[in-house]
Amino acid sequence: MLNAHSSNKQIYSEPTIIWKECLKVIKGNVTLMTYNTWFLPIKPLELNGNTLKVQLPSQFFWEWIDEHFNTLISKTIHDVLGSDSKLAYIINEESDSGSHFISKSSPINKVTEKTKQKNFESHLNLRYTFENFIKGEGNQLARAAALAISDNPGGTSFNPLFIYGGVGLGKTHLIQAAGNKILEINPDKKVIYLSSDTFTVDFVESIQSNKINEFSNFYRGMDVLIIDDIQFLIGKEKTQDLFFHIFNTLHQAGKQIILSSDKPPKELKGLDDRLTSRFQWGLSADIQPPELETRIAILKRKANDYGMNISSEILEYIASNITNNIRELEGCLIKLLANASLNSVAIDFELAKKIVREIATDRKVSVTVENITKIVCSYLNIAENKIRDKTRKKEVVLARQLAMYLSKELTKSSLKSIGLQFGGRDHSTVIHACNSIEESMVRDPSMKDLVKTIKTQIELVSS
Ligand code: ADP
Ligand code: MG
Repeated sequence: MLNAHSSNKQIYSEPTIIWKECLKVIKGNVTLMTYNTWFLPIKPLELNGNTLKVQLPSQFFWEWIDEHFNTLISKTIHDVLGSDSKLAYIINEESDSGSHFISKSSPINKVTEKTKQKNFESHLNLRYTFENFIKGEGNQLARAAALAISDNPGGTSFNPLFIYGGVGLGKTHLIQAAGNKILEINPDKKVIYLSSDTFTVDFVESIQSNKINEFSNFYRGMDVLIIDDIQFLIGKEKTQDLFFHIFNTLHQAGKQIILSSDKPPKELKGLDDRLTSRFQWGLSADIQPPELETRIAILKRKANDYGMNISSEILEYIASNITNNIRELEGCLIKLLANASLNSVAIDFELAKKIVREIATDRKVSVTVENITKIVCSYLNIAENKIRDKTRKKEVVLARQLAMYLSKELTKSSLKSIGLQFGGRDHSTVIHACNSIEESMVRDPSMKDLVKTIKTQIELVSS
């Protein structure tokens, strides 16, 4: 039950006293473990009118609290400070103290400290810094190169800087860390980060709204262009062509280009040779899966950031069992935290084992549009590029529709993104494909069998 302290409202002046009062109320409403994990690390900073400003250890912390304890916090602060009072917060990351979006609907508001005087957004996530990027053998060259260009964008021979490697190994983190560092050194630089998917979607929209020139000029005006997952330009000839011209303009003007991809330039089959050869002008650096020591160091660092108290043995157990993906290491910690906190159990070996097992099971079904297309094409014996062409041949149409349907069923991709990955088709084409496969499964048992067989294959291959 919440205790009301309305009679005391006027006496409080110090943020510390007020927060202590809030903590008393909160303590009576959550388990001790939840209290210790999520509320004790919050530091009161100042009181501004009806707004109590506090500091949280990380962005993740805030998201968690907002999701799970929003009602409790808003009730508590209303009880202690009065009905139109609010809690505002800042994140305790040196790099993350800058401009923030204020969410009006939430009782907990993130504080806007300073607003950037820019007419565009860099789309950089301030969470990604060099400071919190753990150095290891696998990322040494990539990290050193990213640091070098951050000090001197466009002025080194690492132009473009091309970072490649498998999923969840830190490519996005590293290229954004470079962007953040460049802006830290020189806030006037025009730095923009985006994925090649976003680039494509925006390009298609600019065609539809007759704004290709504006689109192209915007990117040509950048000092630093950072494009993530460039492999998604495969099969999108028009976008590649435009990107080629933007690349040339920027490169000639000595502007820095930073790219990431899942493969080295040479292996990006289906990407224009003019592009892949330019990608090799600068430096290509790979990121390899981290060694055990690096994995342990990463886990220790993240556990600390999340305010978690976990024994070294458990961290080592996790690091020994989750071996080739840092995102999964992180996911494991978050799952541990969630389980322990919501079910009020301790973080012990038993729980760690259970979560590690769950992650291994999840991994099995993570499939991509690209892989689905490959499997469908090889099963139906159709060349993969046909599926992205305009061909309306019956067997190609079937393969295309099947691949679209399975992509919708088995991946988290949006209709728009699926459409784009099939030669830039519209989302309505994807809807139509899904409907027509579903209808024919109802009518025709052999279609149902076909879908089932291909699904099984996909699951086998991706396990
Ligand atoms: P990718 O883009 O290669 O798929 P990300 O950059 O998204 O991978 O990394 C996945 C997660 O792992 C991110 O949360 C990132 O912060 C974290 N991460 C990756 N490499 C490191 C590292 N060397 N040190 C600390 N965190 C890392
Ligand atoms: Mg990435």
